[in-house]
Amino acid sequence: MGEAMHDEAWFAARASRGVQGLRAYDPGHDLVAFRRKFGEDNLVELGSNENPYGPSPAARVAILDQLHSLHRYPDPLGLDLKRALAAKHGVDVGQILLGNGSHELLMQLAQVFAGEGDDVVYSRYGFAVFALATQCAGANARVVEALPRDHAAMPLGHDLDAIAAAVTPATKLVYVANPNNPTGTWFGRDALEAFVARIPDHVIVVFDEAYAEMADAPDYASALPLLARHSNLVVTRTFSKAYGLAGLRVGYMLAAPGLVAVMERVRESFNVNGPALAACEAVLDDAAHLQWSLECNAVERVRLSQALQQRGLRVFPSQTNFVLVEFGANTALFEAALIAQGVVLRPMAGYGLGDCLRITIGTHDENQRLLAALDTVLG
Ligand SMILES: *Cc1c(COP(=O)(O)O)cnc(C)c1O
Repeated sequence: MGEAMHDEAWFAARASRGVQGLRAYDPGHDLVAFRRKFGEDNLVELGSNENPYGPSPAARVAILDQLHSLHRYPDPLGLDLKRALAAKHGVDVGQILLGNGSHELLMQLAQVFAGEGDDVVYSRYGFAVFALATQCAGANARVVEALPRDHAAMPLGHDLDAIAAAVTPATKLVYVANPNNPTGTWFGRDALEAFVARIPDHVIVVFDEAYAEMADAPDYASALPLLARHSNLVVTRTFSKAYGLAGLRVGYMLAAPGLVAVMERVRESFNVNGPALAACEAVLDDAAHLQWSLECNAVERVRLSQALQQRGLRVFPSQTNFVLVEFGANTALFEAALIAQGVVLRPMAGYGLGDCLRITIGTHDENQRLLAALDTVLG
């Protein structure tokens, strides 16, 4: 056997067709390096849409309680957590699938339901994982133009009419995010129902609702109530955002039992670990903590948006825990100057929004530190 050390290109050429053209998920900045450089107390991390208030204290108690059984495999079905979720959402246990983050479920949906020769439809500026999942499955991405930047009601939002119009007999899967990341945009109940009515029932529509808990606009509507009448719909949720458990990696999806059963065939055994299962059950029981952190976020979202607007910046409408902000031609310079002061935001060039930054709504103190840093940059 010859001796050779092959490089990435060599291995990529041997990968499946989808993976050949794939680029790994871009997490933004190397936060571990920043924490080392600035020290955690001097760093203002507003780049990853985490919940700055953290989870319910009950999560810590539940995890400590698990530490005596780390040598055991967790419940492979996660049944206790599924039961709690089923009760919360008024669905059957068989309609729920747990994932190692909803990212895993979004990837698996394409792996299971789309392949070479199939189309997957999603919006421009839709969540980055939609493109990754499509490419990884070897399917064709049909990227639909978003609503224009000068749209009066929902600039950069999903154009649901155009998405429905892009569905053809080749379409296997449609991804929409409501609200969407990185735009913060959303759509209301009437638009949602009209959209679902237009999609043929052999096309699976995935509603990524990672930020649903944070949406308080009167017209916002989850797709969950539609599941009972449409077996081609999937709703994904996560414990990473409103519940403050991004570090544990738990997401879930709700769909028809038959769809869940097919997904179950490719699920990794024990994909959600024991401490994570226990912590998620615990936080579901603490409605007061959730409510408190949602209220803090809603107040700070308004305050920070206004403060940014007062500084002459355009803030796109948001129903999430982040805002997309237009910084103009010097965005990269602004971003670098903020990083120099230990304020980390999320660059948007990868989304084709190079003149914007995405800012996670922090605590009041974090937002003040951001604004102070911004003033030295803008001044
Ligand atoms: C953060 C996020 C997710 C959730 O990711 P997890 O893997 O559950 O942590 C899913 N969709 C969108 C749009 C997100 O912003």
